[in-house]
Amino acid sequence: MYVLRRLALWGRLRSPWLLHFNSGSCNACDIELLAAITPRFDVERFGIKVVPSPRHADILVVTGPVTRQAAPRLKRIYEQMPSPKYVMALGTCACSGGVFRGSYAVLNGVDNVIPVDVYVPGCPPRPEAIIDGIIKLLKKMEAEISGK
Ligand code: SF4
Repeated sequence: MYVLRRLALWGRLRSPWLLHFNSGSCNACDIELLAAITPRFDVERFGIKVVPSPRHADILVVTGPVTRQAAPRLKRIYEQMPSPKYVMALGTCACSGGVFRGSYAVLNGVDNVIPVDVYVPGCPPRPEAIIDGIIKLLKKMEAEISGK
C-alpha cells in the first residue's frame, strides 16, 4: 500500500493536472494562463495539463478577487478535489483583491475562502511568472512527498 501511495505521489509530481476557476477576474489573467498552456510557452511539455473536472485536478488555479456570488462555487470545487490538493492564486486580484479591494461585492482574495499554497502577483502576471509559480508549487509538493 505504501509503495502504491508513493507511486501515485510520484506520478502526480511528474504530471500535475490543473483546474482553472475564474472567481470574477477581468479576463486578462485568464488570457495569460491560456498563453502559458498553449504552444508558445507550452507547459504541457513538462506534463502539466489542464483538466475540466475538479475530481481529476491536483492544482486549482484561481483568478479574480472572488466575488460574493462566486465564493460558494469556489469552495464547492475545492471540496470536490482529491487530497493532497494545492491552490494557486493567480494575479493581484486573486492574491489580495487588487483593484477591486474594498468593493462591497468581493471578498478581497482567494485565501479568504480557501487555503492558498502559492501566490503569483501581477496585473496580469506574465506566462513566465505563472510557470515560476507552478515550479514553486512542484517544489512544495516534492518536499511534502519526501517528508522534508
Ligand atoms: S489582477 Fe489585473 S488582470 Fe488580473 S483579474 Fe485583476 S485586474 Fe484583471
